[in-house]
Amino acid sequence: MKLLSVIVPCYNEEENVRDFYDELFRNTSFFQQKDIQVELLYIDDGSKDRTAEEVAKLHAQDERVHLVSFSRNFGKEAAIYAGLQKAKGELVVLMDADLQDPPSLLPEMYGYIEQGYDSVATRRVTRKGEPPIRSFFARMFYRLMNRISKTEIVDGARDYRLMTRKVVDAILAMTEYNRFTKGIFGWVGYETKWLEYENVERKKGETKWSFWKLFLYSLEGIIAFSTVPLTIAAVMGAFFCALAFVMIVVIIVRTLIFGDPTSGWPSLVCIILFVGGVQLFCLGIVGQYLSKTYMEVKNRPIYLVREDF
Ligand code: UDP
Ligand code: MG
Repeated sequence: MKLLSVIVPCYNEEENVRDFYDELFRNTSFFQQKDIQVELLYIDDGSKDRTAEEVAKLHAQDERVHLVSFSRNFGKEAAIYAGLQKAKGELVVLMDADLQDPPSLLPEMYGYIEQGYDSVATRRVTRKGEPPIRSFFARMFYRLMNRISKTEIVDGARDYRLMTRKVVDAILAMTEYNRFTKGIFGWVGYETKWLEYENVERKKGETKWSFWKLFLYSLEGIIAFSTVPLTIAAVMGAFFCALAFVMIVVIIVRTLIFGDPTSGWPSLVCIILFVGGVQLFCLGIVGQYLSKTYMEVKNRPIYLVREDF
């Protein structure tokens, strides 16, 4: 008999906890057929509503349901990590609480594991129901990311993923504090099968990602999985040095030939402002990497547990 751990990060998902449970176990014949036992791990990421109570109610009825709840909101990445740590199964699947990751895909995903794949990942091919401006920036982000990072990050990839123990252990071995999960999956590699499906809209509740939050998250992804911005800063520095050198020569020669009437201070101010701006910009890039390094060096725990059963 095989154990499948289902990990569900929840942040203010009281309306979805039970629906998810019902939906997951609707089609139990598949689990029985394949002789799969299921453990359902809800990770309550510091919800301010009754998410934990809802899970406790389910746990009282069904001992396959478990909960880890955090002392505050640590973010979905931390919740995923906690879930992977708690999971005992030789197979693990990550799913959203809002039923955007349809459990009906599980049999197909399992089929590929049987064929010998180490993990089965999903990507949505449409972004139906999403503001167009958001889709546009998302596309840009993936294009940029794949150009500047060696790690493959797939456009439209969801965190909905079925993994074998081998992959889970590899992810657990990555104990970094700044966890950009999409990058981590790509980084560990292994034989991955990609399934595509149409975007499903959230059943109840609201998305936890504002545009601004997503923007900051994308910056985090870039910093965590690429050092190209640092190279850009260095190249810009070299370019301005070269430019300055050429201008010095030009000005010396010009002064020798034409003398030195005082003029051109407005253009000088522009140049000073411009170069000053570039310097601050580059300093900012370095600062971003430094701040991430600072957080890593502190070696703080990725999450803190309030309740665990
Ligand atoms: N989530 C979480 N912590 C957070 C934000 C979100 O655990 O700080 C969970 C959330 O409860 C949901 C999943 O991550 O199960 C995906 O979130 P959401 O549906 O809001 O994102 P979207 O599908 O819009 O990208
Ligand atoms: Mg969602």
